[in-house]
Amino acid sequence: MSSNNNNNDARDRKIKQDTRAWAALVGTNYTTALRQTESPLVQGFLGEQVSARHLINTLNHHPLIGADGGDFVLGEAGYYADTEWSFNGRSDFVELALLTDFLRMFTPIAPRETPAVSSYFLKHTAEKFLAPHCSYVTNGRLIWAAAALDLPMVEQKGGLNLMIGVSEREHDYVKRMVTPGSTKPHGHQHRPAGYTHLQTALEQCVAGEPDLGRWERPEPSTEVFPFHEWFIQQAGRDDAVGVLAHDHRAGIKDSDHRIARTPNELLEILQEVPASSKTHESAESAIVEWARVSLPSQRGDMNIRTASIRRSKDDTPGWGAGPGTIELHEFLCPCGDGKVIEEHDNTPGFREHDHRIICDKCREEWDFVPGLSVRGWRLEPKPYRAAS
Ligand SMILES: [Zn+2]
Repeated sequence: MSSNNNNNDARDRKIKQDTRAWAALVGTNYTTALRQTESPLVQGFLGEQVSARHLINTLNHHPLIGADGGDFVLGEAGYYADTEWSFNGRSDFVELALLTDFLRMFTPIAPRETPAVSSYFLKHTAEKFLAPHCSYVTNGRLIWAAAALDLPMVEQKGGLNLMIGVSEREHDYVKRMVTPGSTKPHGHQHRPAGYTHLQTALEQCVAGEPDLGRWERPEPSTEVFPFHEWFIQQAGRDDAVGVLAHDHRAGIKDSDHRIARTPNELLEILQEVPASSKTHESAESAIVEWARVSLPSQRGDMNIRTASIRRSKDDTPGWGAGPGTIELHEFLCPCGDGKVIEEHDNTPGFREHDHRIICDKCREEWDFVPGLSVRGWRLEPKPYRAAS
């Protein structure tokens, strides 16, 4: 017998034992239980296939929610519920397996952190994320799946809910993504590692397409962005830069926008969200200050390109050598009060390409980066060049 056959036999035995155990727990027949333990939806999209016997063991022996001297602790309504489970016998196992994958999507909290996401909120998010495969989730079942995964859990003062140890910001992100009518996140720094994989895998599974293959939890990124690090540290300051940094930090936390890894990305973010010219000015001050206080080795990309506000292209009869066009592109200046003008005179015999800063304040603090084409212009703070 080949080892492949041995593996298949072992798997078959495991599924038979699982199916029998599950049929006994929920009070259904073997065939109905088998339809669930062999469903493609229980294969484990973000980890090992969950075992029915492991789920049952969890109910009996888990230190927090396991049965207490034969009395159940966890029931359908949650922790120390009045009533136990009301299984339908047809889809309970599939739903618990999907809940397990739903919870695996999130980053578990670090050992020193305290669980801070209520099982009650998670259950609502799970229902929406897993619809239509699992459109009703009880508090008890959410806690059961979390316990089976050994996620950290703590009691929530005398209630039916437990606090579950998954990333609060990631949960907030998913909640906003799946809840109709909520403001969708614009920054994706808190998108859980397994979010896209699980969503895609579920769609493909239902469409009968081959699965995506094994998912590995990515290592947390250790990349450091010196401008970002410096900028959010200014959040405590009692000036315009401090206020901007404070708002920026809050926006990152709430997934309202992404992280500004470079000065240019800070300006891009301000273009994506409505920002006053005062805000532009604060961003400009922050960038100029960063250019002054940072070491050349930390700066990375200091160059910025500001927002386009208007562009026009006009025909002109020319200057005797035939007609041509004059292109005029207007951009905000860094502080937002003036403009950067880019002009292209495409007239035969009189071709001219030019750019200039129309703002006294910005002209003092910014220069065009040398060596770039007129169309490819970027600005850099003057102190940066003086210091490097
Ligand atoms: Zn300006």
